[in-house]
Parts: sequence; C-alpha cells; structure tokens
Amino acid sequence: MKPAPFDYYAPETVDEAVSLLQRLEDDDVDAKILAGGQSLMPMLSLRMARPEALVDLGKIKTLDYIHEENGVIRIGAMTTKSAAEDSVLLQQKQPLLHAATQHIGHRQIRNQGTVGGSFAHADPAAEYGAIAQALAMEMVVVGPDGERVIPADEFYLSFLTTDIDCSEVLTEVRAPVMSEGTGWAFQEICRRQGDLALAGVAVTLKMAAGNCTDVVIAVFGVNAIAARLADAEQLVNGSAPGEALFAKAGETAAAALDEPITDVHATGEYRRSLIATLVRRCLAEAVAGAA
Ligand SMILES: Cc1cc2nc3c(=O)[nH]c(=O)nc-3n(C[C@H](O)[C@H](O)[C@H](O)COP(=O)(O)OP(=O)(O)OC[C@H]3O[C@@H](n4cnc5c(N)ncnc54)[C@H](O)[C@@H]3O)c2cc1C
Repeated sequence: MKPAPFDYYAPETVDEAVSLLQRLEDDDVDAKILAGGQSLMPMLSLRMARPEALVDLGKIKTLDYIHEENGVIRIGAMTTKSAAEDSVLLQQKQPLLHAATQHIGHRQIRNQGTVGGSFAHADPAAEYGAIAQALAMEMVVVGPDGERVIPADEFYLSFLTTDIDCSEVLTEVRAPVMSEGTGWAFQEICRRQGDLALAGVAVTLKMAAGNCTDVVIAVFGVNAIAARLADAEQLVNGSAPGEALFAKAGETAAAALDEPITDVHATGEYRRSLIATLVRRCLAEAVAGAA
C-alpha cells in the first residue's frame, strides 16, 4: 500500500518547525513530525496513520550531536542511532545506552532512524524505554512557550504516547555519565536478531563491602511502558551476590509484572518467564562487571 496524501514541510530550524506545528494545530490540521521514518513510514504505508501534513526535521542540522557537559551526555534528537553506536564518548562514558543502541533493529535501520525518533515513538518494545527509566534520563522539548525538560518517569504516558505536545519538538535527550565502579548489563530476547524484543532487562548496580548497592532493574517489552521493578531492586540492595539471590530477584521481578502483553509473538506468561531469566542473568553479569 501507499500512504494517503499529505502536505510536506521541511523547516530548517527548530523555531521554524515549532511555528509551523503551531499554525497547523491552530488550523486543525493533523500534522506529524517525520524524523528517520523507520517507524512512521511503515505506519503511513499501512495506513495505520493518516496525517494531513508531515513536518520533516531532516534539514535541521543543529539537532545532530553527542557531547558531554558537566557529567551529562547530551544527544541531539536528529542524531542517527548508528552515530550513537559509533560514538566513542558513549561507549566509554555511558556504555549501557551504547549497548542498548546496538540491539535496535539492523544497522540499516540505525543508519536512518534517529535517537529522538526512538524516544518519541514510545514503542513498548523499544530498548530506549528501559534505558530512559534505568538512567533517569531527561527529555528536552521545545514548543511555542519555550523549552521543557521532562524526566523519563513523566515522559512516557502510554502505548506509543508521550508527554510531547502537538506543537512541540523533542530536541535533545540527556543521560548521566556512568559513575565509576558501576556494573551494568543489558539483555533481551527476540524471535530473530533485529526484531523488536519480546522482553528485555537493563541493570545497573555497585558493590560495597561485598554487598550489592544502588541496584536498578528496568524491564521493557512486557507492558505499555518500560518500568523499574522496586521489589526486586530492594531484595538485591544490601545483599551479598549469589545465584540464589539472583534467581529470587528474577522471580520477584516476574511476579511484580501486571498483566504482561499477550500478542501474536508471545503470551504474557511467556514474557513473564523471560523476565525472571533475564533479571537473573543481568544481575550476575552486572555484579561481575562491578567486581
Ligand atoms: C525492521 C525494523 C526493525 C526495528 N527494530 C527495532 C528495535 O529492535 N528496537 C527499536 O526500538 N526500534 C526498532 N525499530 C524502529 C526504529 O528504531 C525507528 O527508527 C524508531 O522507532 C523511530 O525513529 P525514526 O527517527 O525513524 O522516527 P520516525 O519513524 O520518523 O518517527 C517515529 C515517531 O516519533 C515522532 N518523532 C520523531 N522524531 C521526533 C521529534 N524529534 N520530536 C517529536 N516527535 C518525533 C514521529 O512523529 C513519529 O510519531 C525497527 C524498525 C524497523 C523498520
């Protein structure tokens, strides 16, 4: 199938894009932002989305950067995922975000798809959802009233839905530099390499006096929004690591899931069992890294 007809706009600055989006909204025109098109174009072609206008951000070159400022890594929304994958800064200073990027689709998808597009699309199976929660990332949006900085736990509202308003543009995502001594792990299960994950887990922790501390466990692919699992985190926090603890944390994490998604790819119960296994494996890997 081919997309339904739409008007096409290609602003060259963020201000121009915001003014355009506001005008279209005032005129009751259903407009969508186009970034790398790796999610939006298939949705248009399948007519799952039929916007009357597309606002292509491809000409806004100022949104393509990765740099560090005062312990925070800032990534422009139009930076491609392959640029993030190739970034030595990310690899060295935020290896969890870097590792998750490598799991997104295939290299060809990452060449076109943008970092901002993945956060904005808010697919429950998107790796970046879990990374946003695990790292307490911040999203910067610019709209007619200026800039807003949205913490990750307020950014994702529901399935494919974020707090970005119709006349706002996501311009930047921010992640802290990983602190010294942090162990981390990222694992997911897909039916085929490059597919969206059935379920996945991100873990960070530290070790102090032989015990796990600062434990963060985030899961994705199982509910509409990626989430941290507080019960499993608390179980591991302050405890000496070991296979029995990791297995118990996996069971606790799985039990905490509220009605995991059932779809054509897997049942909710299968996804629950994947989380138990992945949490156990990620904890072991993160402890080994921290030690
Ligand atoms: C075969 C295949 C496999 C894939 N596998 C994975 C995978 O494993 N994991 C994964 O996470 N994704 C996967 N994807 C999706 C891919 O990562 C997309 O690149 C990503 O979801 C969207 O990024 P984009 O730049 O292409 O955005 P687009 O497709 O252009 O836009 C996606 C949505 O975000 C909105 N948007 C984009 N940028 C902005 C912005 N700056 N401000 C406000 N709104 C914005 C658009 O309006 C649209 O609603 C896959 C895609 C394909 C085709």
